[in-house]
Amino acid sequence: MTFSIHGLPVARGIAIGRAVLIASSRADVAHYFVEPHQVESEIARVRAGRNEVVEEIHRLQQSIATMGPKEAPSELAALLDVHLMLLQDEELISGVKHWVTERLYNAEWALTTQLEVIARQFDEMEDDYLRERKADLEQVVERILRYMKGVAAPIAPPPPGTRKTQQDLMLDDSMDVPLVLIAHDLSPADMLQFKQSVFAGFVTDVGGKTSHTAIVARSMDIPAVVGARSASQLVRQDDWVIIDGDAGVVIVDPSAIILAEYGFKQRQGELERTRLARLRHTPAVTLDGLKIELLANIEMPDDAAAALTAGAVGVGLFRSEFLFMGRQGNLPDEEEQYLAYRRAVEGMQGLPVTIRTIDVGADKPLDASARNMAHLNPALGLRAIRWSLADPAMFLTQLRAILRAAAYGQVHMLIPMLAHATEIRHTLALIDQARADLDRKGMAYGAIKLGAMIEIPAAALSVRMFLKYFDFLSIGTNDLIQYTLAIDRADESVAHLYDPLHPAVLRLVADTIAECHAQGKAVSVCGEMAGDTTLTRLLLGLGLRSFSMHPAQILAVKQEVLRADTARLAPWAQQVMQAEEPALVMAG
Ligand code: PEP
Ligand code: MG
Repeated sequence: MTFSIHGLPVARGIAIGRAVLIASSRADVAHYFVEPHQVESEIARVRAGRNEVVEEIHRLQQSIATMGPKEAPSELAALLDVHLMLLQDEELISGVKHWVTERLYNAEWALTTQLEVIARQFDEMEDDYLRERKADLEQVVERILRYMKGVAAPIAPPPPGTRKTQQDLMLDDSMDVPLVLIAHDLSPADMLQFKQSVFAGFVTDVGGKTSHTAIVARSMDIPAVVGARSASQLVRQDDWVIIDGDAGVVIVDPSAIILAEYGFKQRQGELERTRLARLRHTPAVTLDGLKIELLANIEMPDDAAAALTAGAVGVGLFRSEFLFMGRQGNLPDEEEQYLAYRRAVEGMQGLPVTIRTIDVGADKPLDASARNMAHLNPALGLRAIRWSLADPAMFLTQLRAILRAAAYGQVHMLIPMLAHATEIRHTLALIDQARADLDRKGMAYGAIKLGAMIEIPAAALSVRMFLKYFDFLSIGTNDLIQYTLAIDRADESVAHLYDPLHPAVLRLVADTIAECHAQGKAVSVCGEMAGDTTLTRLLLGLGLRSFSMHPAQILAVKQEVLRADTARLAPWAQQVMQAEEPALVMAG
């Protein structure tokens, strides 16, 4: 039966495919496709893992047989029997075989997928006792996975960039169906893991439009919906699903008519992309002759290629924290960071690259384990520059690596979340110290431009002070909106109050731009507002001349720029700003 689920649209377009459900607890399990000749060995790995757990249980059974009822209550023996029964259940292994053979899922992915399928059946059982066996099943699968970790995969997962793409798979007869990912929650690092994957679309139960998970989804340029509440409960493994990333709707089990309608929309979207692609080499100049700078936001050095393809004239925001996330505390050292920054700089072929120093914390934990650390208000806590200043050794390592990469091209260094003069001075002193360290070691480094992000209202109200210290400013509207309106950007329950057009937000943005212009300093917007085509004219009217966004948004924004006349937009933007409800003036 067809039904729909409503969430928040985060990345445009239509995806149609079969659902792959990933429990959030299992996002750390590797998900990749194996080659047909690896099918047997993948199934054998699961079998071997299962046999190890069976043996472990047999050993336990033998040892409790010698114990008295106090040390080994009869419930324990019964529990072990249940675990053995579940392990030997043919449905588990036959299901794994199905996912590996038919879908070419790697062993761990196949096992957790089959776990989801059987767990659903348990959920639907009337009998309380049987229903509760789901937890036992999860435990035995967890143990199999643990054993499988010890048994290396015959061939390591292909490095990012070499994995099969959806297009490759479409050419492969055994894999002719696009897959869409449905999860309760995915951290930005989990999401990044899927960046080179085959998924044609994403849906998560939680998350706001500018949560970092949504931002990564958007950077992948595939349809995505977040904040879809109970999608991961309602959708079943393998269901046909349509993701409408424009409307924020997920349609499950669509009828033939609905499928045809969305298939048509999908083709329209593709045609629009082809049309926009023609603008790639067109300079971004307004009708009244103003040159507008369109820059790219990237997460990884290799994203530089997408930035160039989209015609970006530089990188306006390299979110360096993605190099640090999901590494179980094993942070990249100076050499690794330097090579990564250098790759991004060289990848941009002489164009400027703005590397933002690490911004972890809030909804960007370093690791899944850190996510569970109970902070009262993570968004107001030890995040971004506060985190860096609290760990000067880590920060100095990053500063040295960025300075060294600057010897290979134009590097701008951007500091996130500053508010206080003391933080600014402390940061500048550490940058001086990083240079002195490199001098002492005789290591080469380059000149940089230094910028600050304006993303806390206190910073937006102290722009003059910031301009005494910095060469340029970059307005992080995602956080500026969050902190101005006291709306957690990752919380879907207050997403309706997250309003880029609130007069207070517009005032802070407009005044920051005006003050920079007055002092002849460069200013850009690198939050999601910059890539939103419905806001391009307004930002141009407020005087913005530099926009930084996901590569996939650049051409659509360029189209808006080409149609804009800033001389006319400026008075209109003032009217919008003065309105009680700017959105109404915009619509009118
Ligand atoms: C912002 O806050 O607008 C920004 C660009 O930084 P991030 O989204 O990474 O917090
Ligand atoms: Mg920010």
